[in-house]
Amino acid sequence: MGVKLNSEQVDIMKAAREFAEKEFSEVMQEFDKDEVFDLGLLRKACELGFVGVSIDEAYEGIGYSYFEHCLITEEFAAVDPGIGLATLYPAVVAECIRIFGDGSQKKNLLPKIIAGEIVLALAITEPDSGFDIYSVSTTAALENDTWVINGDKAFVLGGDYADYICLLALTDPGNPSPENRHSFILVPKETQGVSWKRLEGKLGMRAATAAKLSFSNVKVSLSHCVGAPGNGISQARALQCRINTMVAAMGVGIARAALYEGANYSKRRHAFEMPICTFQGIQSKLIEMATLIRAARGLYYEAALSFNDSKIDYGFTAMAKRFSGKTALKCADEALQIHGGYGYFDEYRVQRLYRDAKVVDLWEGSKELERQDILKTILN
Ligand SMILES: Cc1cc2nc3c(=O)[nH]c(=O)nc-3n(C[C@H](O)[C@H](O)[C@H](O)COP(=O)(O)OP(=O)(O)OC[C@H]3O[C@@H](n4cnc5c(N)ncnc54)[C@H](O)[C@@H]3O)c2cc1C
Repeated sequence: MGVKLNSEQVDIMKAAREFAEKEFSEVMQEFDKDEVFDLGLLRKACELGFVGVSIDEAYEGIGYSYFEHCLITEEFAAVDPGIGLATLYPAVVAECIRIFGDGSQKKNLLPKIIAGEIVLALAITEPDSGFDIYSVSTTAALENDTWVINGDKAFVLGGDYADYICLLALTDPGNPSPENRHSFILVPKETQGVSWKRLEGKLGMRAATAAKLSFSNVKVSLSHCVGAPGNGISQARALQCRINTMVAAMGVGIARAALYEGANYSKRRHAFEMPICTFQGIQSKLIEMATLIRAARGLYYEAALSFNDSKIDYGFTAMAKRFSGKTALKCADEALQIHGGYGYFDEYRVQRLYRDAKVVDLWEGSKELERQDILKTILN
């Protein structure tokens, strides 16, 4: 059964779309070319209430659910996926504090995050540890109520300008259960011993800048642990589901933009004295794209609505992201094909969408690992 949006949700989407069209359109080509982001854009989105909509009113948020965050994500991605990601990603990292943080962490950080006063980045991946989060080897050793952190983190989105890093560290290497060896620690980036280097040369999503971070004898107090020590793996999995669902929404936005570009171009472009949209081959592509988008949207809607803070359907969020990734790639590919040779040049937006689409397929749970989560729901 399809999900029917209420009038408030329709208004949120409309407002998000108008904001993105007004604020992203002029700068998106330049941001993509130069691999830059403007924090002023993030602050404007915060002022209008688009960032952190799932934060409770007690922390100056709006108190919607994560579903509304995903609706905004789709709208932003349909205009520019890279800028949309850079604008909304700190709000997903804030979910770590919202769900697992203690009272003082929530009170001190959440209102500032949704006001755009501080930016939070998530650091799980390491140079030698990707999807296998159990192998995260950055250490945080407890010495007299102080965590002493050492290690490197790779691919940290917003790590070049973030104020706080929420990092997964090995805190109890001797614990017999691999589920309980890690914890999330919150590190102010200005802390002594933190250094970072911008990563350049991404294929797509180039406005969402990233950095490599190094921690050398970085000291923060015991109170910087997010949630109980030893719960890092389950927290990372819960966050991954939220990111998966957001990425699925992003994929639908990209696919939708690709369909729009493909359909419009096919009406303008003539071949054999006919608009190319009159050819059956082109029509089939447009029909297939529109159908895939509807199906992908249905999946991410249900995934976003299916989990709450105590219950997560890992398999379902993996399905949503898997299907959305395939849809984004397929639609961007077909839209580029419809553009013929012109689509290969960066003057046309479809080229950027084609590059941006790949990350939806690649990021977080990869295709291979999504299969495992989905299989568990089938075979259990
Ligand atoms: C644009 C971008 C932004 C990112 N932002 C962040 C961020 O902000 N914070 C963060 O922590 N990380 C971030 N990441 C990292 C991302 O979430 C992935 O975890 C990371 O890219 C995967 O690590 P890896 O490249 O080392 O892949 P690996 O884990 O080395 O995997 C390599 C290949 O092996 C396959 N593979 C691995 N295990 C299995 C298995 N069991 N069975 C079958 N196949 C398997 C994978 O599917 C993949 O194809 C980002 C990545 C990108 C590209």
